[in-house]
Amino acid sequence: MTPLEFDARHLWHPYTHVLEPGPMHLIAETQGVWLTRDDGVRMIDAMSSWWCTVHGHRHPAIIDAMQKQLGRMPHVMFGGLTHEPAIELGRRLIKMLPAGLDRIFYSDSGSVAIEVALKMAVQYQIAKGRSERTEFATIRGGYHGDTWKAMSVCDPVNGMHGLFSGALSIQHFLPRPAIRFDQDWLEDPAKNGLDALEQLLETKGSKIAALILEPVVQGAGGMFFYHPAWLRGARAMCDAHDVLLIFDEIATGFGRSGEMFAMDHAGVVPDILCLGKALTGGHITLAATVATEEVARGIGESEAGVLMHGPTYMANPLACAAGVASLDQLSLRNWRQEVADIARQMNHELSLARNLPGVADVRVLGAIGVIEMQDRVDASIAHKLAPDTGVWLRPFGRNIYCMPPFIISPDELSRVTAAMVALAGGAR
Ligand SMILES: *Cc1c(COP(=O)(O)O)cnc(C)c1O
Repeated sequence: MTPLEFDARHLWHPYTHVLEPGPMHLIAETQGVWLTRDDGVRMIDAMSSWWCTVHGHRHPAIIDAMQKQLGRMPHVMFGGLTHEPAIELGRRLIKMLPAGLDRIFYSDSGSVAIEVALKMAVQYQIAKGRSERTEFATIRGGYHGDTWKAMSVCDPVNGMHGLFSGALSIQHFLPRPAIRFDQDWLEDPAKNGLDALEQLLETKGSKIAALILEPVVQGAGGMFFYHPAWLRGARAMCDAHDVLLIFDEIATGFGRSGEMFAMDHAGVVPDILCLGKALTGGHITLAATVATEEVARGIGESEAGVLMHGPTYMANPLACAAGVASLDQLSLRNWRQEVADIARQMNHELSLARNLPGVADVRVLGAIGVIEMQDRVDASIAHKLAPDTGVWLRPFGRNIYCMPPFIISPDELSRVTAAMVALAGGAR
């Protein structure tokens, strides 16, 4: 059996047909924006390997920090023990986050960070004598991960987990915010969609622990950008009804939307924040759930006093060291300018797709470029074309999109947008 035959026979891949996985590329090496196959074929990683590698693959400073950490202490348990990488990463996060988000819980992946956030919310409500608040509210079009409770707050139709709907606990789904990022905000709650939230909290609020959503940018649920003012309204309503507000910035954190965090577009601070993906610059898995002092105190002063969660590899030192180096890179480089330049170029070049038949919408926010088609896109076409175009794209649903590394050059980005437009032209 060749390696690819073995792979097809024995290895599961994410959201991939079990028996007919389709074309698969054997990647031997990565560097910067480039993926290199074992046969030498090179492709630009326009996905940033699922939105993680903001500084490009194998960034020398991050690799160096990881190698040093590897030589000293790849791992140690976090119960009763602590270490400098976790502390240093914590210092940087607290400094860059809005005031109030003060208590960091590290975990190993985004989905787990969501589980932790939901658990924190329920424990906080119990601590406040509101133990009947065990349900969650969210907006349609969201995606929060693949673990069991995270699945229950993903979009019930597009969120990839429709199959399980009978087995998931019922949550409360609001319409997705009606006004888009680049449209004018309308104060009328019936027009901006906040009336649905108000109504839900009025009628079911006493059962709801928290409202969870991706601020401004909905990612895997449909690549939709909505108006930040919606979040200001939601913040006020949650406060009025003792409902916590959880922001999932696993996809948007660390500059992707043009601000350091997508919530910065709105100036709204949640009670609990989830981070992941680009936290280590895409070098190793790590996530964090950050709570306000109020949430942490609530849980701490309750009878349990303890958050009932503790991953084996919590605060893995190797991952934390990568996180420290990645955040240092962000503070050293002018990522804001890089992202603005990428946005400007994508706006210009992707607009070529606007008048193609079958294209429903073209939109850009920060270093996120989307061509939305009227019909579902066959991802396997993009996979087959990649070696010829030299661009690795993985469309999903009706969206052909890219989230390039911030270090991508203008020439490389032009190749990416050309490949996207070509796909839109022939992908119907
Ligand atoms: C990717 C993602 C998750 C899940 O993170 P994993 O590391 O894949 O478990 C959760 N929320 C959002 C918004 C994401 O983009």
